[in-house]
Amino acid sequence: MDVTNVLFPGYTVGSGLETYEKLGELCARYGTKAVVIGGERALAAIKPVLTEAVKGTNIELVGFEWFGGVASYENGDRLLGLDTVKEADMIFACGGGKAIDTCKYVAMKAEKPFFTFPTIAATCASTTAIAVMYYPNGVQKDVFVAPRPAIHNFINLDIIAKAPEVYLWAGIGDTLAKYTEVPFSARGLELAHKDALPVIMSQMTGDPLLKYGTKAMEDVKNNRSSFELEQAVLAVVLTSGLVSYLIDINLNSGMAHAIFYGMTVLPQIEERHLHGEVVSYGVLCMLMMDKQMDKLAEIYKFMKSIGLPTKLADMEVTVDELDPVLDSAVTKYDIEVGPYKITKEMMRQAILDLEEYNKTH
Ligand SMILES: [Zn+2]
Repeated sequence: MDVTNVLFPGYTVGSGLETYEKLGELCARYGTKAVVIGGERALAAIKPVLTEAVKGTNIELVGFEWFGGVASYENGDRLLGLDTVKEADMIFACGGGKAIDTCKYVAMKAEKPFFTFPTIAATCASTTAIAVMYYPNGVQKDVFVAPRPAIHNFINLDIIAKAPEVYLWAGIGDTLAKYTEVPFSARGLELAHKDALPVIMSQMTGDPLLKYGTKAMEDVKNNRSSFELEQAVLAVVLTSGLVSYLIDINLNSGMAHAIFYGMTVLPQIEERHLHGEVVSYGVLCMLMMDKQMDKLAEIYKFMKSIGLPTKLADMEVTVDELDPVLDSAVTKYDIEVGPYKITKEMMRQAILDLEEYNKTH
């Protein structure tokens, strides 16, 4: 038998300084010195808050460091050379996906624990152990899996509510894929506990979004934290990350992502449309192909309510541009595991059926 090791991250969700009530206590066993690493905007948002939060604790913030703008091993190596990083007992990783992913590499190399402080709700990076790494020029290089996820994730809704709403919008789009791709990929498989658990958990990525997502988007537009925002943020940042962390990588994706990667051959997608935005469109295509008409109707209505794309024109794409998109999409590993083989023609038909669906819904 193989040995399975799972190390769950803890989490706190709250508003304002109360989010960090237990910070001192939770960090105490790992030392006293922390270096804060993040993106420029994340550092600007978190610096005054964390400076206040550590008052009266034994934690000393030894520096605030910019991660370098790209989640690359090169930026990680540069950070590892900094005195503040060497001196620190632990790393406080702040931001969206890229800064936090860089910190996973730094933490592993430096053999230091890391804590996460998401400042936007665009990805599940603050929860999962998986890091998406890039070349210094910004082209994706590989996926790196840290030995463990963060020790604890401090989710301050006030900071997330003040970030531009486009982050939550795209985060919701990507999370709808977790909700639909994971059960599709796993359908019919005999799964051991470690993979069966996140399939069930994936239900809690989309259900709260369909229920609270529209109100959550209104609240983030008005920079206001609320119960609904909390439910949506936890779906995107926490539950989605737990699913990613636990599940076999081959079950973690599906046709929605294959369509997204295919679409990236088009310049308008690369230049003007976000990952989560295009992925959510791919979710509708997958549901159409799989004839999940009730789920399609529900997600379609929700996506319309928050302005996610439901047809090609919403992404400036025409039917005539589909050939290279589908040639690329059908080669992606994302669709290798599933209840049946997905062909290029099936994808095309789903896209065309969805175009028709838009005319009547
Ligand atoms: Zn994605």
